[in-house]
Amino acid sequence: SKAVVADRTRTREELLQAARDGFRAAFGAPPDPQHEYAAWAPGRVNLIGEHTDYNGGFVLPCALERGTVVLAAGRLVRADAADAGRVRVASMDCRGGDGMLTFAALPEELGPGEESWGNYVRGAIAQYLGDVPEGRALALDMFIVGSLPLGGGLSSSASLTTAVATLVEAVLEGEGWQAPEDARVKARRCRRAEHDFLGTPCGIMDQFASALCPPGHAILLDCASETFEPVPLDDGAVTLVITDSRVTHSLGQRGSQYPVRVAQCAAAARAVGADSLRSAELPALEQEAKRGGMSEVELARARHVVTENERCVNFADALRKRDYDAAGAAMLESHASLRDNYEVSAPELDKLVELAAATDGVYGSRLTGAGFGGCTVTLAQTDAVPALVRRLRRGYKEAFGLDCACFATRAGGGARVLLRPRP
Ligand code: ADP
Ligand code: MG
Repeated sequence: SKAVVADRTRTREELLQAARDGFRAAFGAPPDPQHEYAAWAPGRVNLIGEHTDYNGGFVLPCALERGTVVLAAGRLVRADAADAGRVRVASMDCRGGDGMLTFAALPEELGPGEESWGNYVRGAIAQYLGDVPEGRALALDMFIVGSLPLGGGLSSSASLTTAVATLVEAVLEGEGWQAPEDARVKARRCRRAEHDFLGTPCGIMDQFASALCPPGHAILLDCASETFEPVPLDDGAVTLVITDSRVTHSLGQRGSQYPVRVAQCAAAARAVGADSLRSAELPALEQEAKRGGMSEVELARARHVVTENERCVNFADALRKRDYDAAGAAMLESHASLRDNYEVSAPELDKLVELAAATDGVYGSRLTGAGFGGCTVTLAQTDAVPALVRRLRRGYKEAFGLDCACFATRAGGGARVLLRPRP
């Protein structure tokens, strides 16, 4: 399996220090303070609302305290300068051949390259080339360091593109540019970077969470209208625990089952004359299934999506009221529906949820992400976390002979600029 599960717990300040050290090692000197920028963007976990995004429904992601720091020497230079459009980038987590990638960030030249990690960086920068004033070009030296597992389902990719986009915006702002008032523009640009430079047909959740979650809040995101509402999650008495099962079944996200689910949902919506399952109603779906207009399996898939949208909205209400029992119950129902109606769970995930649910002080738990492996997310009383983690580790080992990886997090807050040159 590709999943890396290093339990790295460096704080943002430690990441920034590591980026300073890495920058000096890579480029031979620290950034010139007049052109020194740093930006941060988090990974995310989806608390509820699974397999609803491509059905025009709701999701409820929350930014993590883990993410990516980019430290850079950045400026705009004259288009005929020797370093016009030159980008050099190194990452502590993924090195190119000689430890550094160099490419030209010029509108006519910037396309996907060979190093796939570099394409996240290329893709994010490409979104801003149209904002560079006539006769000028970017010159950027960047060092990247993160605390997320890469390919672990916590969206290190959106964290990387969003950190780079935030950094490039800061550099442009340093030259008098004004960022679009609607911060969703940045999130959409980062999604386009993944579409166009990686060929990943992702939805909007990851980039919206990384770019837009206010500190201490998750967001209830409407995937149809691309509008969102912050949902407070800043109560010190509760903590999120993310547990990586360290398994990925081959039926999973990139395997054969994902497009099958997408097609089943589309068929169910069509059968009741709806554009998407967002506007379908359960009684109509059931009636249509009875008449033979859709299969029992298609009905079960639709039942998941329709009820999951309700749970998502109810979960947001419960968080606002600090009614964690209701929030936790919605999480457990979500998991059961993903297991029974949508059939995207796995024995390992069911076990982790069962172990969590049986622990005192746990409100709820569910698989998060597309399923067939990956992570669970658990909402627990903060003082119950040590016992929860012990129980998950021991029970999982007993059942499968595997070590799961757990970490606790609070709602972290979205991307921000950490450092700009002093005027
Ligand atoms: P996820 O987003 O769930 O972590 P993806 O496969 O979408 O998984 O994205 C992971 C990829 O993002 C990595 O393989 C790497 O190419 C890139 N990436 C993320 N963070 C970094 C980083 N700190 N340095 C270099 N590349 C990174
Ligand atoms: Mg990703």
